[in-house]
Amino acid sequence: MLRSPLPWPTRLALAALLLGLCLVSVLLWQRLLTTEQARVAERVDYQARSLAQQLETSLHKQVDDLRRIALQWNHRGRIPLDEWLLDSRFSLKRFKGYLAIQWLDADLRMRWIEPLQGNEAAQQFRLTPAHPNFNLAIQAKNAGEPRFSNSFDLAQGGSGFILYTPLYIHNEHNERVFDGFLQGVFRVEGLMDELLNHPDSHNFSAYLLEAGQPIYSHQQPDALDTLQQEVPLDLLNNQSFTLRLKPTAQLVQSLATLLPQIALGASLTISLLLVAAIGLALDNARRANALQVGNRRLSDELEQRAQIEHVLRDSRERLQLVIDLTDSSHDGLFIIDPQNRDILHMNQATHNSLGYSAEAFRELLKQDPEQLLPGYHAWLEGVRQAQQDQLSSIFQQKMRRRDGSEQAAEISAQLVLVNNREYLIGVTRDNSQRLQLEAQLQRLSQQDGLTGLYNRRFFDSQLAIEWRRLRRQGASLTLLMIDIDYFKRYNDHLGHLAGDDALRQVADILRTSLKREGDSACRYGGEEFAIILADTGLEGGLHVASRLQQRLATLHLAHPDSPLGCLTLSIGLAVAEPGSGESPQRLMERCDQTLYRAKHEGRNRICISQDNPA
Ligand code: GH3
Ligand code: MG
Ligand code: MG
Repeated sequence: MLRSPLPWPTRLALAALLLGLCLVSVLLWQRLLTTEQARVAERVDYQARSLAQQLETSLHKQVDDLRRIALQWNHRGRIPLDEWLLDSRFSLKRFKGYLAIQWLDADLRMRWIEPLQGNEAAQQFRLTPAHPNFNLAIQAKNAGEPRFSNSFDLAQGGSGFILYTPLYIHNEHNERVFDGFLQGVFRVEGLMDELLNHPDSHNFSAYLLEAGQPIYSHQQPDALDTLQQEVPLDLLNNQSFTLRLKPTAQLVQSLATLLPQIALGASLTISLLLVAAIGLALDNARRANALQVGNRRLSDELEQRAQIEHVLRDSRERLQLVIDLTDSSHDGLFIIDPQNRDILHMNQATHNSLGYSAEAFRELLKQDPEQLLPGYHAWLEGVRQAQQDQLSSIFQQKMRRRDGSEQAAEISAQLVLVNNREYLIGVTRDNSQRLQLEAQLQRLSQQDGLTGLYNRRFFDSQLAIEWRRLRRQGASLTLLMIDIDYFKRYNDHLGHLAGDDALRQVADILRTSLKREGDSACRYGGEEFAIILADTGLEGGLHVASRLQQRLATLHLAHPDSPLGCLTLSIGLAVAEPGSGESPQRLMERCDQTLYRAKHEGRNRICISQDNPA
């Protein structure tokens, strides 16, 4: 599945967050670096102070050493030279910073020097007020306390310091008398080299400042100016010295840790991971959200589908009801595709009425529709045309049963278009019975109830039909008008029932005497009859009329009140050529007049119309 990237605003926010976190990381790194540097500076400061204290303590030790000799001198009196030499040498041996230990007597003249070697130049030295240390020496004398000098030019050459320790003896009056100074002489370099002879000293470049001016330096090649420290020295009375220390890069490096760099690296990594995690979480949340939306849509669809299924089930049930209903119908109901004749639906009556199984009907309609519905294609065209012309959609067709017999069918058909596909909806009804009934009704409506002959109405229409037909054919038509003679009297003598019976017998003779199609015998009214003889001329007409009279004569129906003795017929015969322009009415008039003539001429005879065509 393709994943869409995070939207731009989110990506920008994440980039801003990453930038912010990186900034915080750098600030943290800077802070740690500063703290680290402060810590290193603190360590350097501590070490510098500790070195300065070491230096002070070391010098104070020498002061105490000389003071110890001085105390002996003060208590015991001036100690002998050899003993002094022993003490001095002991001190010189213990502390290599001494240039010499000297005794300057009360006149401030140099008396004893140890070692003499290298210090010969100081042998004749006398401390005079001109000497820079004169006042300091007098202070030491007056205070009875040792004093440490500033640097000055030594009599032995070079620059140095002197520690003045005043000496006293008791005179014969047991009075304390000044007896000069016990002096520790130090060369600047010697003192400093010795004092700085310390395990930590190689970590610093050391400078001794006097009143801010450097008078000694002990330099290391990689000393750092940035972290230099200045520690004031407290050398007895003298406060004018300062120790300046610059730590070496090696020391700083040993004190420093990789913590800021590690913290920076870790912080940047965590920032990156955090932003990536947030990005992933947002992406996940987005996808979860999308999933939730998808699920909701799915559940909506499921609900919709359930509703649709419910509706479908409902529709199916209704449809089944409709199908059941159609199956219970005696009319055939079907829906077909008129082009390929696939059946979408048909009820049982559709195929049962013709004696087919559903499958056989389906197959036959598909393969040979003309077998089922002769003229199927023409009929289909007729349906389409009728629908276009908005004519009746009910068609009278013949369908063929499975046994080959024909079934009159009334088919109501309609073409409908559904989704651009044409369907034919049809309702078929077995029409034979109805047609039979209709025919029967027709017959009855054309028949005379008493005699079974056609009635007057049929006669009128039949005469018109035959008239038109024969006119087209150019053939002739003969009309016989027949009236029973003295029939009123017959009724009067024998009764109406006998009269009716006689009418039926005459009618039978008329019916059975007609042999040709198109001939028809009708009861024209009362005891009058008419016979249409199609395509028949005078000769044929006379023949039929004679035969009628003969057949009646053979029956010998007695008529007690007739001069003729039995029942007889008077017949008027008129021949017409329908194509000649004469009307049927005119023929009727002619024939009627001819009949009238036959009555007039004595009855029981055949008269021929005098206006017959030649
Ligand atoms: P003509 O020789 O001049 O015809 O004398 P006719 O008595 O037949 O005279 P007409 O034609 O005037 O008389 C018709 C008679 O036919 C009247 C009636 O008594 C009789 N008639 C008409 N219709 C029926 C019928 O349906 N049944 C019976 N029984 N008699 C009928
Ligand atoms: Mg009559
Ligand atoms: Mg009559």
